[in-house]
Amino acid sequence: DAARAAVAAHTRHVADFPEPGVVFADLTPVFADGAALAAVIDGLAAAGRDDDGARSVDLVAGLDARGFLLGSGVALRLGVGTLAVRKAGKLPPPVLREEYQLEYGSAALEVPAEGIELEGRRILIVDDVLATGGTVGAAVALLRRAGAIVERVSVVLDLEALGGRGRLQQLPGGGITVSA
Ligand code: 5GP
Repeated sequence: DAARAAVAAHTRHVADFPEPGVVFADLTPVFADGAALAAVIDGLAAAGRDDDGARSVDLVAGLDARGFLLGSGVALRLGVGTLAVRKAGKLPPPVLREEYQLEYGSAALEVPAEGIELEGRRILIVDDVLATGGTVGAAVALLRRAGAIVERVSVVLDLEALGGRGRLQQLPGGGITVSA
């Protein structure tokens, strides 16, 4: 489909980044192309509608940082608002925080604990790439702890060899939509 073609045409594959042996899928040229960006946003937004086309989420959560580029566009398409799920230390207090393991060390994601009602909100999580699933897993746990209902996760690209999807099977209805 259109998103798949756009990603295939514009993704840059960079060997040995961020470390030796890793091939990084750089979607920068996808986002910088108007038609490709629109195709990708449409593909992601489809995950926020049910089979009849009715909207099934109330809020789009974009993951730091490339998920922000996508989350706002997806939210506009769906007619809902967007929430930036931030890396630690960026948001003013009070925050809810979820730590997760990286290959070396750990990281944390945060959302505001005040100023936005997350209790009972139906959420679509959006990010560019699913790799090991650690980031999305932490975002799901964090938003659930805040009382939200994570309806779906929508990513542009799933690096299937890294097994992220298998680690996220606790999501309802298969949970993860890949648009390219
Ligand atoms: P995970 O936590 O699933 O291992 O990694 C996913 C996070 O790392 C995402 O936020 C994603 O942006 C970033 N990431 C990991 N590998 C790649 C890659 O090859 N390309 C891009 N664009 N991002 C990646």
